[in-house]
Amino acid sequence: MREFAEPFRSGWRQVAQVRDVLYDGISAFQHLQVLDTVPFRRMLVLDDATQTSEADEYIYHEMLVHVPMMAHPDPKRVLVIGGGDGGALRRVLEYPVTKATMVEIDGEVVRVSRDLLPEIAGDAFERPNAELIIGDGVKYLRETEEQFDVILVDSTDPVGPAVDLFGESFYRDARRALGDTGIIVTQSGSPLVMLDELQDAVALMRRVFPVVKTYLCNIPLYPGVLWSFTAASMTLDPSAVNPATIAARLQANGYPTGWYTPAIHQAAFALPNFLAAALEMQAPDDPPALTVPLSGE
Ligand code: SAM
Repeated sequence: MREFAEPFRSGWRQVAQVRDVLYDGISAFQHLQVLDTVPFRRMLVLDDATQTSEADEYIYHEMLVHVPMMAHPDPKRVLVIGGGDGGALRRVLEYPVTKATMVEIDGEVVRVSRDLLPEIAGDAFERPNAELIIGDGVKYLRETEEQFDVILVDSTDPVGPAVDLFGESFYRDARRALGDTGIIVTQSGSPLVMLDELQDAVALMRRVFPVVKTYLCNIPLYPGVLWSFTAASMTLDPSAVNPATIAARLQANGYPTGWYTPAIHQAAFALPNFLAAALEMQAPDDPPALTVPLSGE
């Protein structure tokens, strides 16, 4: 049987057995593949980096979306940047939002995902309160006059077209569009094998927002498995949401979750000692090979 492995990150990688290659093509922005794999069923791969899979997409999308949506008392206008597979948009639309706008740079990712990964988006793209814009999220946020309650950055890692989604001017544009009462969240990589990227994201967000909180979950598909998100706001603290309020809002939404619960929302903000210390420090120029202090040093 064939195998798929991402390039090494900090000297390690995971391997999945591949039953079939369902799509392999080059868009204007990246190399797209949809693989049918043994552990993850169908998997979307962009430029050799795994993006999402039928088997574990719910973990990533629920944690990306529900944490900031619950941190806001009544989100009505939501912006998703990236997220071409539609999994984040689908979770946003579980809330009574007026409009959810998704800005994805690569129309091919949307087209191929709708064709070969239809379960991930469900009917999100057909919903009347969903708006899909094919374009650069950085440019969109710079130019828009709209205000948002929640901005979700569901992007590829900070290389290629996603580089500027991790820049200070992007966060300044986000602050303008969010005002004092909104919240932004970005996927911020693995604390174990991409700690420098997480440290850089946190440092940048702290230059722009007074409240910056990193939270964690485990995503088997992604390098390092332990994964981070970082949320930022002028006023909203996503770690301080009342569990009873979360439970009531989940029930009102009426959609089951596979991973996210009120207790997981709270627990996700508990950081291991090494990570809490690392987020107080500047990223080193030459990060260590593996950042977890396995030897106890
Ligand atoms: N869950 C994924 C992960 O963390 O690996 C992200 C999935 S989603 C498919 C990432 C999307 O971000 C891609 O489809 C890519 O085209 C899009 N993207 C990258 N840079 C972008 C930009 N500047 N504006 C809008 N979308 C962008």
